[in-house]
Amino acid sequence: WWSDVEMGPPDAILGLTEAFNRSKDDRKVNVGVGAYRDDNGEPYVFSCIREAEKRLLAKALNKEYIPIVGTVEFCKLCVELALGEGSPPIKNGNYCAAQALSGTGALRIGAEVIQRLSNGNKEIFFPTPTWGNHARVFTHAGLKINKYRHYDEKTNSFDYDGSLQDIEKIPESSVVLFHACAHNPTGVDPPQKQWESLSKLVKQKNLLSFFDMAYQGFATGDFNNDAFAPRQFVKDGNQIMLAQSFAKNLGLYGERVGCFSIVTSSKEEAESLLSQIKIIIRGMYSSPPIHGQRLVAEVLKDPELRCIWECELGAISSRIIKIRKDLRQKLEALGSKKDWKHITDQIGMFCFTGLTEEQAVRLTKEFEIYLTKNGRISMAGVTSKNVDYIAKCMHEVTK
Ligand code: PMP
Repeated sequence: WWSDVEMGPPDAILGLTEAFNRSKDDRKVNVGVGAYRDDNGEPYVFSCIREAEKRLLAKALNKEYIPIVGTVEFCKLCVELALGEGSPPIKNGNYCAAQALSGTGALRIGAEVIQRLSNGNKEIFFPTPTWGNHARVFTHAGLKINKYRHYDEKTNSFDYDGSLQDIEKIPESSVVLFHACAHNPTGVDPPQKQWESLSKLVKQKNLLSFFDMAYQGFATGDFNNDAFAPRQFVKDGNQIMLAQSFAKNLGLYGERVGCFSIVTSSKEEAESLLSQIKIIIRGMYSSPPIHGQRLVAEVLKDPELRCIWECELGAISSRIIKIRKDLRQKLEALGSKKDWKHITDQIGMFCFTGLTEEQAVRLTKEFEIYLTKNGRISMAGVTSKNVDYIAKCMHEVTK
């Protein structure tokens, strides 16, 4: 049956952790994977989640199946977090939502929805560059993928003119994917004024926008600020699709909790869509897991836990902002002639360092610093203990 199956390549990102774990070298540093680490380099469990776990345990709940699209309460809480409580689609019931297997699962449901239900083109446009898994998720659902400019390598910033020009040329009724905030891998987002123009253009061209929101609260420490783009698009009358993940902003990586939602033009449309989404999900994995969504709901609906969460996220984003400053200062103090301003300009978990593939490979091979070949480092893996070493090695390979 399987004799013709060839060995597949290791995953570009998760394969790094495997290589890191295999290494016996004391110098080793993992800045490849996008999981938050505290300043001691340890995985972090939010205290609001620890508290929610205690509360759930005390309730001794059962483990019956939950509905195919998750509970109504969970879905509503998610959409409120994204679009803002009392936003018109929520007030009018002009949305449908389904619990998903984290952000990736939400994207996958969305891909299937576009493929099976939309009467538009089956073509989706990604920013360049984009998260490595996007292409796989959407091509597996049978969509054609294409791209538009996002990152300007010359200025290490958002390519506003390039993106407008490219989006202008996208055929009507196609889908455009946007990273809602903290673009991965570049850490470069359009400023709010530019989001406003992008929203108008997308509306005018009748494109369907799909927001991938994997870092709400992680970019600036403020949920509302980080949700500016999808909210603006909705305000301008765009019927957006949205993939939310709680992997990073609540540290629920392995619990796989997320939400997929669509803003519709009417309540009836939302109901029909939801009925079809149920059929799609039933055929993929039947119904979602129960535990993680309970944790999220517990935190989102309880003002005390929510307040703790916001403080924790604030502290996390401040640590990342501080370590960005440290890394840049250390490189400059070492006498590096390169401009490292983008390290502090970029936001969110990742820094697109501008290192070439050759330099990135040298960092791994010679210095045991594990990063993706596109030069992306996870700032969450940089700590006050390893920042000197990382700066020294980055300087060494860029001399
Ligand atoms: N989109 C982007 C841009 C991401 O960076 C990630 C996490 N690396 C995801 C989606 C989804 O991750 P998860 O499935 O773990 O929520």
